[in-house]
Amino acid sequence: MPDAAQSLLSGLGVTPGIMLGGEFREAGGGEVPVRNPATGATIAVVPLAGPADFALAIDGAGEAFGRWSRETGAARGEVLKRAAALLLARRSDIAQLLTLEQGKVLPQALGEVDYAASFFQWFGEEARRPTGRLQPHPVRGREYRVKAVPAGVAGLVTPWNFPLAQGAKKIAAALAAGCTAVWKPSELTPLVALALGSVLREAGLAPGVLQVLPALGPVAGEALTADPRVRVISLTGSTATGRTVLRASARHLPRLSLELGGNAPFVILPDADLDEVVPELVKLKLLCSGQVCVTANRVFVPAALEGKLVEKLCAVWRGLRVGNGLEAGTDVGPLIHAEACVRVRGLVEGAIAEGAELVAENRSHQADRGIAAGGFYTPQILRGVRDTMAIARGEIFGPVLPLLTYVDVDEAVRRANATEAGLSAYVYGRDLSLANAVADELEAGIVGVNEWRPLRAEIPFGGTKASGQGWEGGEEGLREFTELKVISAPVPSLRPPAR
Ligand code: NAD
Repeated sequence: MPDAAQSLLSGLGVTPGIMLGGEFREAGGGEVPVRNPATGATIAVVPLAGPADFALAIDGAGEAFGRWSRETGAARGEVLKRAAALLLARRSDIAQLLTLEQGKVLPQALGEVDYAASFFQWFGEEARRPTGRLQPHPVRGREYRVKAVPAGVAGLVTPWNFPLAQGAKKIAAALAAGCTAVWKPSELTPLVALALGSVLREAGLAPGVLQVLPALGPVAGEALTADPRVRVISLTGSTATGRTVLRASARHLPRLSLELGGNAPFVILPDADLDEVVPELVKLKLLCSGQVCVTANRVFVPAALEGKLVEKLCAVWRGLRVGNGLEAGTDVGPLIHAEACVRVRGLVEGAIAEGAELVAENRSHQADRGIAAGGFYTPQILRGVRDTMAIARGEIFGPVLPLLTYVDVDEAVRRANATEAGLSAYVYGRDLSLANAVADELEAGIVGVNEWRPLRAEIPFGGTKASGQGWEGGEEGLREFTELKVISAPVPSLRPPAR
């Protein structure tokens, strides 16, 4: 398997290293073995950036900013659209690398490549949209020009669960806006990030416009927040990391975009069609083995429907195949590493000790000796989960479906909102006026009504409450990387203003 990763990397033009000035280089922050989560095998060793590498990267991005920010939006957009096309042309290789490094099953990895490409396409188009406005001035003979200008060098930090798509969302928006960027991907999934850097270089991106620096989080956080030239920091990660970066940013006050953790409620209304709900709920829960910020973390079901729901869920659960994501027919891959399994197990055992009941589990991976050293967690369904249990209070980040019963809809909404997170929510029901009314009441940045995957490049996505601030996608995603500037100036005129 190490050979598979090596040949994918060389086919994609990647030499493991940091990408500075368009070249892959050695770095001064040590190195990290990249493991295939399905087998535990080391598939590459990647150098990590240290403080001096970040200083060089910010120097280069600062220099490149002078040129890139003065390109026309149309020219910037052309590079991004070429990157979208190249991602799709290299779809199969990038997806295999993603599965090898991250563990998600291949069809989901292919979906992630398509999703990432959609952001390059969208922001490639958005780059040429006119922004700003002329506004009347109260003094005769003058007017206001309100302009959106590129903010400067952007520091981008992304997690390991969608290492390609999270990078794409930020890079495409930053570059479309005219910023240059220093991207710190997760140290657990640097390979696919380097592959994206290589794709952008092939698309014609000038050296220095995007620097890719795999690094440890605290090293990157300190380097990016300590440098006054970094004018935007966009982080996707846990709420704890968001708080750390927010505090550290007090020094130079960059614009901050924080896409943080969730605790999504999935509200099944009394009239819901369970035959529609079950397949969508299972797809949502098992996407990336449950390691998703917008996954269904708490399923609220009317007490009268719980028995039927359990029966239908168990039937689907039993038929799943858990295993190596590269093998055809696999539904659920591993968690990112063995420690993640220990954490999820702790949450499940805690819930059972407090009275929850394990009603289904799928151990189909245990027969496969080839993955015995992988980080697999057995997909499980729990009923009788209560709001006070740790499993309902924070992100599970694993393939565990917790069922919570309710009696009336107002109660379900109140309990769904009783969390510090406010990222996503789901409502399923036949009566659309009720479903929409519930959607209006749920405190979340995005709500899917009878839809399990509402995220798209063309709409803004961001969290409320402790799930963060700022937006990715949509026209709002680009604005995260601009500053508004107002120029109050005399209007050139053939006739001088009357005095
Ligand atoms: P994490 O917060 O541990 O790490 C995220 C990134 O931040 C990594 O690159 C990490 O190295 C870096 N980091 C860690 N400490 C840092 C510091 N002090 N300064 C700067 N950077 C630092 O999160 P994770 O475990 O990689 O990812 C899972 C979390 O991300 C979950 O909470 C999940 O909900 C969240 N997430 C949110 C979204 C969203 O769009 N809101 C999307 C995906 C994941």
